[in-house]
Amino acid sequence: MTTCYRIQERSRDPRELLNPENWTSHVWTGEVYRQCATCHGSGEVWTDADAEYPEECPECGGRGETEDVRRGISVCDSLEHLACYFADRHADLKDVVVVALAGDISEDDDWEAADGALLVYPTAIVRVMTLADAGLDWLREEDAE
Ligand SMILES: [Zn+2]
Repeated sequence: MTTCYRIQERSRDPRELLNPENWTSHVWTGEVYRQCATCHGSGEVWTDADAEYPEECPECGGRGETEDVRRGISVCDSLEHLACYFADRHADLKDVVVVALAGDISEDDDWEAADGALLVYPTAIVRVMTLADAGLDWLREEDAE
C-alpha cells in the first residue's frame, strides 16, 4: 500500500477511481499499439484444427495489434514527481485537481516509469486538493506564459 498522486479534471468524480471497471490506463497523449497477444500479430486464429481457413482474430479484429491499455490508474509516487511529469508535458491544467490516493501497485509498468510514474489499483481517496493546496500552482502559471 502506498500513497500516490495524480492530476485529473475537476469535473471527474474522484470516487470513480475506486471502481475496478475504470482501472484501465490509456496513454495520456495519443495511442500506443502493441502486437496482439492472441494472434501474435497475424490477425488470424485457427479455432478449429480441421478448418480450411483461419478466422479473424476476435481480440484485435484482424488488425494484428491491440491498443496498449494497461491495468491500473496512472499516478506519480510523490508530488515532486507529479510536478516534474506535468512540467515537461505542457498539459492543460486550467480546471484540474490533485488527487492523493492510497493504492496497491499494479504489475504493469507505466509507460513513463522512469519519471516516477506508477500504475496502481486505488483503494481509498486520501484527499482532493487544488493545485494551490498541493503547492503546484506554479505549474499552471508556467503554462499561461
Ligand atoms: Zn489478434
